[in-house]
Amino acid sequence: MEFIVSLQLMRQYAEQQRCAGRRLALVPTMGYLHEGHLQLIRRARQLADVVITSVFVNPTQFLPGEDYERYPRDIDRDRRLAEAAGSDVLFAPLVQEMYPAGYTTRVSVLGVSEPFEGVYRPGHFDGVATVVTKLFVITRPHIALFGQKDWQQTLVVRQLVRDLNFEVDIHVVPTVREPDGLAMSSRNVYLEPEQRQKATALYRALQRARALVLQGERRRSVIVQALLEELARVPELQLDYAAAARAQTLEEPEEFAPGEQVVLLVAARLGGTRLIDNELVDVPQYGAERA
Ligand code: AMP
Repeated sequence: MEFIVSLQLMRQYAEQQRCAGRRLALVPTMGYLHEGHLQLIRRARQLADVVITSVFVNPTQFLPGEDYERYPRDIDRDRRLAEAAGSDVLFAPLVQEMYPAGYTTRVSVLGVSEPFEGVYRPGHFDGVATVVTKLFVITRPHIALFGQKDWQQTLVVRQLVRDLNFEVDIHVVPTVREPDGLAMSSRNVYLEPEQRQKATALYRALQRARALVLQGERRRSVIVQALLEELARVPELQLDYAAAARAQTLEEPEEFAPGEQVVLLVAARLGGTRLIDNELVDVPQYGAERA
């Protein structure tokens, strides 16, 4: 596997591969790779000739006071894991080259970036849209893979691709979970053993609300109430939001329509660790379907 730090070398490599007629896939990450990331890499391996995994803890998507400095980093481990999962390149640019002195440009996607994460992490999606734009320009991928774990982010990226005419196909890979349901995340290492156990409340809440929708419940307030009740069983959880929304637009109607795809969204803090998770569910066409 190639290990590339320099933006110029990355651009040259991508250009050569494109000229040789190969299909390039990009898997953008912030590193400290786990099974969720590796699933994206493996899927990329199936879809493309050349897999580029980027590892970049992007400072512009962290708000002041968030965990940018303490975000876990282990580039040697990432190299081994990315290679074993089938990546051809690990691209690990330096902050000072991505954002040199005098850098002033920011990409803002409006609309889908505004609710939920947009409220609790204002400016976060500007940072995401900016770095994804830069990574697309530098690595010139034909496809890029993102995790369902960050559902709102996938909508922001799809909007970005449409609006800025990137010729990049976006693939969304299902969330990889621990055996007890907790969504894998680099941030899970922050959790103390007791918190780690309590963190499964997010998954349980999502499953309960999902079952309710599959039983035919279409009233948003009732669906959200199910999320809230389950989350309230763990008083240590400080809730940012629990919501049910149209999966593609994040609109929150009073009642969902039969056949509509709904995303159930949860974000909460446990001690100093912020956890997010979501679940997609199709509203049954006719009455109840089996959960
Ligand atoms: P991150 O390193 O957390 O920025 O994540 C990089 C990519 O991996 C994003 O597209 C995430 O949505 C995706 N990802 C993170 N955790 C998971 C997971 N548990 N399952 C699937 N994809 C994930």
